[in-house]
Amino acid sequence: MPRNDTISFITASNRGVQRLKGGHLWVYRSDLLNAEGVPPGALVHVRDERGRPLGSALYSSSSQIAIRLLSSKVIGAGELLSLVRERIDLAVAFRRKHVRDSDSFRVIFGEADLLPGLIVDKYNDVLVMQVLTQAFDREDLRQTVISALRDHFPEASLLDRVDSHIRELEQLPVRESEFAFGDRASTVFHLNGVGFHFDGSTGQKTGAFLDQRENYAAAARYAHGSALDCFTYQGAFALHLARVCNAVSAVDSSRPALEVAEQNEQLNRDLLTCGDIEWIEANAFDLLKDYSTAGHQYDTIVLDPPAFAKSKKAVETATRGYKELNLRALKMLRSGGILVTCSCSFHVGESELLEMLSGAVADAGRRVRILEKRGAAIDHPTLVGVPETHYLKCVIAQIIE
Ligand code: SAH
Repeated sequence: MPRNDTISFITASNRGVQRLKGGHLWVYRSDLLNAEGVPPGALVHVRDERGRPLGSALYSSSSQIAIRLLSSKVIGAGELLSLVRERIDLAVAFRRKHVRDSDSFRVIFGEADLLPGLIVDKYNDVLVMQVLTQAFDREDLRQTVISALRDHFPEASLLDRVDSHIRELEQLPVRESEFAFGDRASTVFHLNGVGFHFDGSTGQKTGAFLDQRENYAAAARYAHGSALDCFTYQGAFALHLARVCNAVSAVDSSRPALEVAEQNEQLNRDLLTCGDIEWIEANAFDLLKDYSTAGHQYDTIVLDPPAFAKSKKAVETATRGYKELNLRALKMLRSGGILVTCSCSFHVGESELLEMLSGAVADAGRRVRILEKRGAAIDHPTLVGVPETHYLKCVIAQIIE
């Protein structure tokens, strides 16, 4: 029998209990009644004030998110590693079944795979793991994760990518990024048949926004004519559009990102239906303003800006930013044109995005219909009750007049 006697009990306040009962996995420190002396990263049993069990959780002694629920069941210390292993097996099997035409996807999406605090991405034969909590930094849990990933992907290498800011927040000792197994840090990977360079050894975040993978393919289903991809990063939307459009321009303010985008273009040259993609280093706000004033026109425009609203307070300013971008894009689209507009701000929900869009459509004096309301790709599912897992919105609209 597993031994339960080393496990701490933690009592959640009514507010914490309501949160858990509503389906969330997190309890904030201010909603715990007793957590003194609980070891960092420990498996704990959570109870309400009357002592009724609420489940088993992983504890952080430093984060404001003190508790991340692992299971509604009472789990013994001896069962923890096998439960984690089982969840990893399920996460991998789910992706293998549902991810199409791509060798790259999010293998483990923390909370949505009931492995809160752990992220693993696969870029073809390079896996990248990110540990976000004290619990997944525990040697026994780390080794369980590593050995499961090695079993599932024996040909791959696994890079443990350290975010020093997160380690500081979790009060974990400073550590460098390192290989957990294998030694390949760079590779070429494919999303919907489009090739991309990946280099896990460079300082900046390379790789892809894997959550947009299915939206790239969806955008390409409607895209036509001349296209403009704003906030292109390493060119993912632009390259997908370049397989169906006859001219593609793409803008980003980051020169290093555009350099990779250009290399990605070379990699896919044979697949592209357009001439050379025009990569423009500029502030997208300025460029859209200048181009719309100058009367430029397009048949397809993609807007995929960074998260403007990092907090609730920033929503109003962020919405103004989104509206400005969308207004200018709507003015430049020809009749029949396609607008692909995204927001990855968790604080700007789908209804806010649609409301912003309807304001922009009215101001632009256009008639527009929504073709698709989309979210993140299937390997980033939303866990009901944890709204933080639903952050990416992508609306595809058509200008009909
Ligand atoms: N569409 C991309 C992801 C975009 S991420 C993809 O699917 O891969 C956001 C990008 O916006 C980053 O590459 C960043 O360099 C760029 N960016 C941020 N602010 C910008 C600005 N004001 N003008 C142009 N690009 C900007």
